[in-house]
Amino acid sequence: MANEGLTGGSVGVFKVFGVPVRLHFTFLLLIVFLLFIGIGGKQSGASTALYILALFGSVLLHELGHTFVAARFGIHTKEIVMYPIGGVSRPERAPKAGEELWIALAGPAVNILIAAGITFWSWRENQFTSLTALLEPTDANLAQRIAVGNLILGAFNLLPAYPMDGGRVLRSILARFRPEDEATRITAATGQALAVGLGLFGLLSTNFMLVFIAMFVYLGAAQEGAAAGDARLQRALDLLRANQVAEAENAVPCSC
Ligand code: ZN
Repeated sequence: MANEGLTGGSVGVFKVFGVPVRLHFTFLLLIVFLLFIGIGGKQSGASTALYILALFGSVLLHELGHTFVAARFGIHTKEIVMYPIGGVSRPERAPKAGEELWIALAGPAVNILIAAGITFWSWRENQFTSLTALLEPTDANLAQRIAVGNLILGAFNLLPAYPMDGGRVLRSILARFRPEDEATRITAATGQALAVGLGLFGLLSTNFMLVFIAMFVYLGAAQEGAAAGDARLQRALDLLRANQVAEAENAVPCSC
């Protein structure tokens, strides 16, 4: 099967440095949402389109940050899948704890660099507007909104919980003191707790974008936790089988 090992529900769109970039079907929801909040404001249609493209590009550059650092450790990236709350790079092999720390940090670092670059440019061009003015999208504050978008992307991804990059950083640090699957379970539980808190806050403040994000965080964390659980179960089964084999071997020479 051509799609073997690739994420279901996604379509291949293009390749960057040999890595296929695929859109998950839920990504369409984000585009519809951004169009919905973008239209009717004071910005032109071109600005709305540019803003969406710039954020898409920023998420992609974030993922390529992971891809490049992973490649430095000799880990090829199988695919990059774009979800509404960000992308996911799927490496060919799981990185070791020490490698994972740097691969995870590379993504948010790209967003922080983009934000810093645009901020520096705006400052030099004297195009600075106040943060409250950014709440109303106009053509003039487009660049700064892209900078803020990147800051939010960077900060959100640094939250120390799965499936965010910060969760991977936390896991690679925990893995120095504890078995790896235990570190994964702790980080996945943190992710689920954070998602529940975020979801409740979103419901109470009727911010449905937050509820939507919380849902994705919860599902992502649950998936990672389940994968760690599977690995643990597999190890227990292997151990059991090894014991049975040893017992069977012991039984042969014994004639008692
Ligand atoms: Zn990332």
